[in-house]
Amino acid sequence: MEIRNLISEKAHRIFQARRALHRIPEKSFEEEKTSGFLARALEELGLGVKTKVGGTGVVGTLVGKGSGPTVMLRADMDALPIQEETGLPYSSEHPGMMHACGHDANMAMVLGAAMVLSPMRKDLRGCVKFVFQPAEEIASGAMEMIREGVLEDPKVDYALGAHLWPGIPEGTVGLRPGPLMAAMDRFDIEIIGRGGHGAMPHLCVDALDVGVQVVNALQRIVSRQMNPIDPAVVTVGSFQAGSAFNIIAERAVLSGTTRTFRRDVWEGWEERIRGIVEGVCSSMGAGYKLSYSRGCPPLVNDPGVTKRLSKIAAEVVGDSRVVEPDPTMTGEDMAWYLERVPGCYFFLGVGKEGSAPLHNSRFQFEEYVLLSGVEVFCRAVLDLTQSEA
Ligand SMILES: [Zn+2]
Ligand SMILES: [Zn+2]
Repeated sequence: MEIRNLISEKAHRIFQARRALHRIPEKSFEEEKTSGFLARALEELGLGVKTKVGGTGVVGTLVGKGSGPTVMLRADMDALPIQEETGLPYSSEHPGMMHACGHDANMAMVLGAAMVLSPMRKDLRGCVKFVFQPAEEIASGAMEMIREGVLEDPKVDYALGAHLWPGIPEGTVGLRPGPLMAAMDRFDIEIIGRGGHGAMPHLCVDALDVGVQVVNALQRIVSRQMNPIDPAVVTVGSFQAGSAFNIIAERAVLSGTTRTFRRDVWEGWEERIRGIVEGVCSSMGAGYKLSYSRGCPPLVNDPGVTKRLSKIAAEVVGDSRVVEPDPTMTGEDMAWYLERVPGCYFFLGVGKEGSAPLHNSRFQFEEYVLLSGVEVFCRAVLDLTQSEA
């Protein structure tokens, strides 16, 4: 039967699964109910299921009849600490938590592909791994799953994943070869001065003033040290110092994030930031502590796989609805898989006039777009497993 007919037969169940998942949003690495729901659903489909992979991760494996490549379809499971305000009848049942990044949709698409592909086992060469990953929002779950062998046994040859994207029009599929999303890290700086009377700066080391100089100097990295052709971001997102108008601050605490599409720039961030913090603080007589935490590398799509997926997407939504999105400085830990295995991460357009952005308490989307995602996944699996790995 035509894939599309098979998908429309399952559409109701796919939407039901998405709504059930939407009701139970959970924090990163605490996706217990979510992984339980997914494991049961995969078992009902007759797949081999592994749970607790890299924390709460779930992997369903479909073994085809003949030998061929293994394709991994990956979804992320975690939600965000946001109070939902969509007013939907299947709104979050967990106070203060919401699937505001659409990971309920990402999961429903991968589960939907499992629903459609599992009865086709006999026609399938190779294997499909349906991977549900914890803790994408804190850029930690992918590496945990890799450490616990998600890319092995059977060895994964291609990795695919999708995310809803309000930045492109509803009903489109967004594909881009090469870098699509940025490397993303976090830094925390504590500046240690000497507090005292606001009228006697000569007896103090003003941590607040040193902090201001650090923030300014950090902005020089992008404007004066980077090649202007390579986009990069340094954002200081929080800065806390001082307690009263007439007291010189003893401490200042800053935190921020860096972004880049280049791996070599990514690898050099910590040294650049440390150099500036060290230089500014020592010139002003302050001490400091810097903690620099790696998030994930740039997300780079394999040009060959992306080209094949573009062709498939055109069959699914029509030529005019396949778009090439601008790269985005947001990060995505799918990048860790794509560093090791060729593959493609693509966007499903949900943008329209007045729609709320991701990570917003009113974020919602039209469910029909999920069916396009399922169809791209299923056709891509059939296409890639026909090829030699
Ligand atoms: Zn998110
Ligand atoms: Zn997300």
